[in-house]
Amino acid sequence: MLRRVIVALVLVSPAALIGFEPPARPVRSSPAITQDTNAVPRAIRRDVPMTNAIRRAFEAGTRDRSGRPGPKYWQLQVDYAIDVRLDPATQTLTGSERVTLHNNSPDALTEIVLRLDHNIFRGLVPRGFSTPAENTDGMVVTRIGVNGEAVDLGARPAGGRGRGGAPRTLAVSGLDQTVARISLASPIAPASTATLEIDWRTKLPGGPGGRGHRMTQRWDDTLFQPTQWFPRVAKYDDLRGWDTQVYLGPAEFYNNFGRFDVRIDVPAGWLVSGTGVLRNPDEVLTATARERLARVLESDEVITIVGEHEAGPGRSTAPGDRLVWHYAAGMVNDFAWAAARSYMWRATRATIPGTGPIPIHMFHLPERAKLFANAAPITRHALEFYSKLLVPYPFPQLTLQDGPSAGMEYPMVLNSNQGAADHEAAHQWWPMMVGTNETVYGWMDEGFNQYMNILSQADARGVEPSLDGLGGRYGQTSGSEDEPPMMWAANHAGPMYGFQTYSKTPLMLSMLGGIVGDEAVQRALREYAGAWAFKHPSPWDFVFFMNNALGQDLNWFWYYWLWTTEAVNGSIAGVKADGGRAVVTVRQDGEMPAPVVLRVQLAPDGPEIEPMKNAKMIDATTAIVTWPVDVWFDGTRTFEAALDFGGRRVTGVTLDPHRRFPDRHADDNVWPRP
Ligand SMILES: [Zn+2]
Repeated sequence: MLRRVIVALVLVSPAALIGFEPPARPVRSSPAITQDTNAVPRAIRRDVPMTNAIRRAFEAGTRDRSGRPGPKYWQLQVDYAIDVRLDPATQTLTGSERVTLHNNSPDALTEIVLRLDHNIFRGLVPRGFSTPAENTDGMVVTRIGVNGEAVDLGARPAGGRGRGGAPRTLAVSGLDQTVARISLASPIAPASTATLEIDWRTKLPGGPGGRGHRMTQRWDDTLFQPTQWFPRVAKYDDLRGWDTQVYLGPAEFYNNFGRFDVRIDVPAGWLVSGTGVLRNPDEVLTATARERLARVLESDEVITIVGEHEAGPGRSTAPGDRLVWHYAAGMVNDFAWAAARSYMWRATRATIPGTGPIPIHMFHLPERAKLFANAAPITRHALEFYSKLLVPYPFPQLTLQDGPSAGMEYPMVLNSNQGAADHEAAHQWWPMMVGTNETVYGWMDEGFNQYMNILSQADARGVEPSLDGLGGRYGQTSGSEDEPPMMWAANHAGPMYGFQTYSKTPLMLSMLGGIVGDEAVQRALREYAGAWAFKHPSPWDFVFFMNNALGQDLNWFWYYWLWTTEAVNGSIAGVKADGGRAVVTVRQDGEMPAPVVLRVQLAPDGPEIEPMKNAKMIDATTAIVTWPVDVWFDGTRTFEAALDFGGRRVTGVTLDPHRRFPDRHADDNVWPRP
């Protein structure tokens, strides 16, 4: 009935229905209104947008306008004690965990948000462009207790969540999704601790067809690479409260720091590697393996701990039917492990400034030894180089684990062979040490990492890193409708997720180096890593920290790179040469401004060269002349750069000679034109 009434209404003109007619439109005689960018001054934004979340944090003193943690900074600590059993026959983990949640926030927590990432392997949850190798039942939670009280897993949470006088009840929702919520009968008071007990099981997905890291976690029933395998407490922070971003596959994590105590029960003869330090080598290793391990820190040699032909209980491990491997880690934000029936175990060392030698472990299948042939020197170089570039590697070991996922990082664990070892090792600084929210701000993690990889790989080859050209290259991408700004949540970045999260940051830092110098950029990053180690910075903290570390208000720069997809698009519009003087007309057609940097070629003969104040001679007749970005702040699109080198004739000019500023066409940056 209702439907027929609606159909009748749409047949009548809306204006007739409400008794209103629009005024007659005047006949247009003037030209159509179109956009003429040249006719309007360029509106250069010189601050960064502030959100309610960061404003509140500044007011509360949890963060500081200097970019450092505020005097009232806090974060939760979440400790895990986990017992897990691997059954190769069913490819299933069965686990039981006791989670201690230290509520260091000033808030009474009325709920606990859980991350159940393995529910992405169920067929009916939302997913990004990752595809699991196999659909499973997901993470099947069989018991939850909060402070000793059992949660009825079948009951629906009461409506109103305790508002309007309704009593709060202990209940859970979303157990079949990647984010679940436990509503609490009594809140967790500030400065108090709550205990969660959870039992669960999850089948590790295997088989062909998995796409995306973490989407295939085993080879048949002989090698397992469990990640995101246990129910985790979501992040609760001063910016957004509980983090309720669903896990879609491509974007990564935002986890609490805490201590882990994990007991992994596997068949005897299987080797187990993982986050943390093995606490019971006497119970699970052979005497031979323990003796070999004792020599690892003595040299850079690669030592075989368990060889190809040492397989089975009593040879690769202690004898028995099943063995329980006990790993423990202090202050990490996740725990990953791997187990295989026929792993080889080799080890070497890296020497960390201030710490000394630490072990690098490599667990791989014998037939894949080639993929690990260079893993030791690459990983050692990465740990030692990044320790000097940023701050010393803070963990007691690093382990490479062979398996279907070959390019993924967890604390002290690289699911990688030599191919991605340098990149994955750098992740030990972000997000394992500086705990960025990768789900939303992937660039603060993958992007910084890509920049560091350029430096590391050049250092390993003994050459100067090449950062020239990178910033300029962004001019070719700018303008794509598919590109989300870097501040757009990476979890929803779409087809250009990879560019937004990985590739754009080195381009941005190339331009920053073009303004303040690459050494200054790296020094500031080092100070930032130190200030935020084992904490959780936001983009505003990063931006304001860098401004202070670099001693410059660069908010215009951050605004255009992080909040927009605009470019500079500079050119030389003309040169008026008059004897020994020249005036270069520089244009910027894009919305992003940039300093004016000219390489000026002077004639070999003539009056003696007197360098300009803003010039640096790079050889007898070539100078780099710069004007600060401020020359654009009045909105003009052209700048007249007057050149005078004591009357020496100017024979050539190149704008942005190091190609650091995003530019669509390089061929209009030179005079005379080729
Ligand atoms: Zn990465």
